[in-house]
Amino acid sequence: MNRVYNFSAGPSMLPVPVLERAASEMMCYGDSGMSVMEMSHRSPVYEKIIADAEAKLRELMNIPDNYKVLFLQGGASTQFAAVPLNLIGRTGKADYIVSGQFSGKAYKEAQKMGYDVKCIATSKDTNFDRIPVVTKDMISPDASYVHICFNNTIYGTKYSYIPDTGDVPLVADMSSCIISEPVDVTKFGVIYAGAQKNMAPAGVTLVIVREDLLECGDPKMPSMLDWKLMAENGSMYNTPPCYSIYVAGLVYEWILGLGGLDAMKEKNVKKAALLYDYLDSQDYYIAPVQKDSRSMMNVTFVTGVEEIDKKFPKEAAAAGLVNLKGHRSVGGMRASIYNAMPIEGVEALVEFMKKFAAENPKA
Ligand SMILES: *Cc1c(COP(=O)(O)O)cnc(C)c1O
Repeated sequence: MNRVYNFSAGPSMLPVPVLERAASEMMCYGDSGMSVMEMSHRSPVYEKIIADAEAKLRELMNIPDNYKVLFLQGGASTQFAAVPLNLIGRTGKADYIVSGQFSGKAYKEAQKMGYDVKCIATSKDTNFDRIPVVTKDMISPDASYVHICFNNTIYGTKYSYIPDTGDVPLVADMSSCIISEPVDVTKFGVIYAGAQKNMAPAGVTLVIVREDLLECGDPKMPSMLDWKLMAENGSMYNTPPCYSIYVAGLVYEWILGLGGLDAMKEKNVKKAALLYDYLDSQDYYIAPVQKDSRSMMNVTFVTGVEEIDKKFPKEAAAAGLVNLKGHRSVGGMRASIYNAMPIEGVEALVEFMKKFAAENPKA
């Protein structure tokens, strides 16, 4: 078996010990006589799996008791609609910060639904190469919430600070940075994330919501989008994405075993520094993101020559470094170095970049 270093933005690498554990339990989980995939979600054995996953996540992220943890379906994109449906009833208005495509989609979804939403800051005019500056005086005091995307997967940018929104609840899409480092959950009203970047296989979407925010949902909203209903039913109003939740639990356990999110952050800081230090030390590759907005998870770079940008991912793939092609809206390359990417993968990438630069002069 020849595993490659997979730099995919998502679905993306899972930790090898997690895959091995899932494989070893594939045919028979514990003494249940069946795979987790085959179990009733109402069985005591599965009820323990989901309860353990939640307990481990609470421990890992230090989630206070007044926050609900929901394991839902539909991906982060479904939450673009669920957020206004559940929250905008507070005041009828909301603020959005548009720092890339996903936050733009979230904003448009709320607009499409006819809600009174306002984009209070954007970095669109510089092709999202930075996080827009957000200060407290920019927030509408009567907004139901302020929506941000904490890490912009496509552009490789991340907030280096948590915006101060005063009493207005902050809602953050953390799909591509969740559990990569500690965050102070109490600074947020809602955190949500699709699992397939840094947490589990596709299929489960995590929502962490402060309890007092569950009181203003639109009564006409579809049940499947209703956080309160999902919370009352322990994420089992209908069949949950059972297997993805099980793998998420294994991932949380893996991180706890490494020493939790402080230890995870230390590893991630080292990996990102290896790549950014190299990018800053030479002038063959260009890193388009402003330094104070750099993502620790998604690192974008270009050579500035289209043919060379096209050649890079192909040759890298032949060397066992796959999925390095950048998103079409940025071009060039993107290395997604989530929790499961070992430092050896990043070292191999930097060595490859040096060799490639030497072999492909820019005329
Ligand atoms: C991938 C991604 C999404 C979309 O997630 P789906 O689960 O595919 O709907 C939304 N936001 C961010 C930040 C992402 O990285």
